[in-house]
Amino acid sequence: MNLSLNNIEHLLTTSDPTAIDNLFAEACRVRDEVYGRKVFMRGLIEITNHCKNNCLYCGIRRDADTRRYRLTKEQILDCCRTGRKLGFRTFVLQGGEDGWFTDELVCDIVRSIKREFPDCAVTLSLGERGRESFARLREAGADRYLLRHETADAAHYAHLHPAEMSFEHRMQCLRDLRELGFQVGAGFMVGSPGQSIETLKKDLLFIADFRPEMVGIGPFIPAAGTPFENERAGSVELTLRLLAIIRILHPHVLLPATTALGTLHPTGRERAVMAGANVVMPNLSPQDTRALYSIYNNKLSTGSEAAESAADIRLRMKAIGMEVPEDRGDYLN
Ligand code: SAH
Repeated sequence: MNLSLNNIEHLLTTSDPTAIDNLFAEACRVRDEVYGRKVFMRGLIEITNHCKNNCLYCGIRRDADTRRYRLTKEQILDCCRTGRKLGFRTFVLQGGEDGWFTDELVCDIVRSIKREFPDCAVTLSLGERGRESFARLREAGADRYLLRHETADAAHYAHLHPAEMSFEHRMQCLRDLRELGFQVGAGFMVGSPGQSIETLKKDLLFIADFRPEMVGIGPFIPAAGTPFENERAGSVELTLRLLAIIRILHPHVLLPATTALGTLHPTGRERAVMAGANVVMPNLSPQDTRALYSIYNNKLSTGSEAAESAADIRLRMKAIGMEVPEDRGDYLN
C-alpha cells in the first residue's frame, strides 16, 4: 500500500468505507507477516499517582484535587506474583513523576522483580528522568521504557503542557533511552486540544524516522478538574485509522490496543486489533488503588480484579481469532 503524505491525509479524512476496510486489512496482513496472529499481554501496575508535573490534560496533574497513593515494593511484587500466575511475562510499572521513587528505590524494585521472575520483562513508565538515572535503571535490569512523546509539534506541545516542561527534553529522553539499550515506547493522544492533521503528520513522520519499538496511542478523554475538562474526547474512528497507518509505516512495531479506546467504545480494543494492534495491557494494580489512578474520566475496569481483567481480555482476543501467548512479546528485529 502506498503511504505518501498525501495519501495519509486522504486516509485520515475520507468517508469512503472501502478505503478504510482496505487500510485495516492491509495493516492486519502486515502485522501477521511479522508477528503472526498473536496479541501480547502486559500487566500494568500503577505504582503512584503523585506527580510533580502539571500537564493540562492529565487527571493526576500536580494541581488536581485528588487522593494520592503510592504502592510499596511488597505491594508491587505481590501484583507481579498474581500476574505471573495469570500468564503475564511483562510487567509495566507506570506512575506520575514522583520523587519518592528515587533511582535507588526503583532499581531495588526492578532487581527484586528480575530475581523472582527471571523469565519476565520489566517495562518502566515513570516520566522524564535524567540520562544518568535511566542508565541506572537499565543497569538494574529494566528492559523497556514507555514515554509517549505526546506530540511531535513543539507549538502543540506547549499548548498541552505548562511552560516549565520542554518538548526538547522529552525528545532527548527518548534518544537517551534508545542509546542506553532500552526497547523504547513513544506515542500520543488522538484528538488532544489543538491537534490538527498537520501535527498528526509530524507524529507519523517522527514514528517512521525514530522507529520506536512500541507506540502507544489512544483517544484523548477529558479529565475532571483539569483545564481541559470541558474539551471534546478524541475520535475512536480516527484512532483506529492511525493505528493501521502506524502498523503499515513501521511493520515491526508493538502496538497496544489501549485502555482509553476500550473506555470510549465497548469493543474499542477488539477493533484496534482488527486495525493492526497486537498488545493489550490489562490492569494488575491492587483493586482499591485503581480508581485513584484517574488520568481521565470513567477509566475502564477500575473496580475489577486482576484475574477478571486478564480473563476478560483473553476471551475478547480469542473471540476475534487471535492467540494470546504466555510470552514476553519482545520486539522482533
Ligand atoms: N508520567 C508518565 C506516565 C503518564 S500516563 C509519563 O509522563 O510518561 C500515560 C499516558 O496517558 C500519557 O503519556 C498520556 O499520553 C496519557 N493520558 C494522560 N491523560 C490523558 C487523558 N486525559 N486522556 C487520554 N490519555 C491521557
